[in-house]
Amino acid sequence: MTLRKTLLWLTALSVIFCTVSNYSKPADCAVATKTDIYKNYQNSGNKIALTFDDGPHPRQTHEILDILDEYGIKATFFVIGVNVKNYPEAFQETIRRGHEIGNHTYSHPHLSGADYNTLKNEIDKCESAISLAADYKPKLFRPPEGWIDSDVKTLSEQYDYKVILWNIDTKDWAHTPSDKIVKYVTDNVKPGDIILMHDYIGKNSPTAEALRGFIPVLLERGYQFVVVSELIGSN
Ligand SMILES: [Zn+2]
Repeated sequence: MTLRKTLLWLTALSVIFCTVSNYSKPADCAVATKTDIYKNYQNSGNKIALTFDDGPHPRQTHEILDILDEYGIKATFFVIGVNVKNYPEAFQETIRRGHEIGNHTYSHPHLSGADYNTLKNEIDKCESAISLAADYKPKLFRPPEGWIDSDVKTLSEQYDYKVILWNIDTKDWAHTPSDKIVKYVTDNVKPGDIILMHDYIGKNSPTAEALRGFIPVLLERGYQFVVVSELIGSN
């Protein structure tokens, strides 16, 4: 094998490795893609990030904000544009209390069937809804259902977004009982993890009760809850 072929193989292998592995050191993966995609982020401390998707919701978001305030915790909310438009007060309150906001599209479409223009429109409309409701420019994007393809990567680069996935899925969206969520999180969480939850779930959301269960346990263990930008060292 010539040196050139060997180098091509090594480049291809690093692309595969960086695509499937957790992003602990983005600089090492510069060959793979210019898009920064994070499922978690190893750091020297005990930092972890709570994230809430699909809101704002006129009641559930407030309930979660109150719990976070009780424990002095900041979190990241990946909002849906149409919900920002419908519930601007809940959205503004989230910002007023010092939390971070990310773009989660305007109407939460299934991106598997979406083309470039559809996704661009979804990102644009969510940004517009955010800027109409508050003086805020998101720096993070979370594609619905964690869908990643070349359009998601290209548009994230164009908008200068970091793409934020997760590695701890509480499955609160599936109405998992709160005690099961507490057990799953406390059994599995590690420094640098990104925890997925939701502040817009149909009836009987387990999210608030689960938070009351696992937050004090993790604080007792020395974990520090930070917003995603702080976790990944970009603010
Ligand atoms: Zn979602």
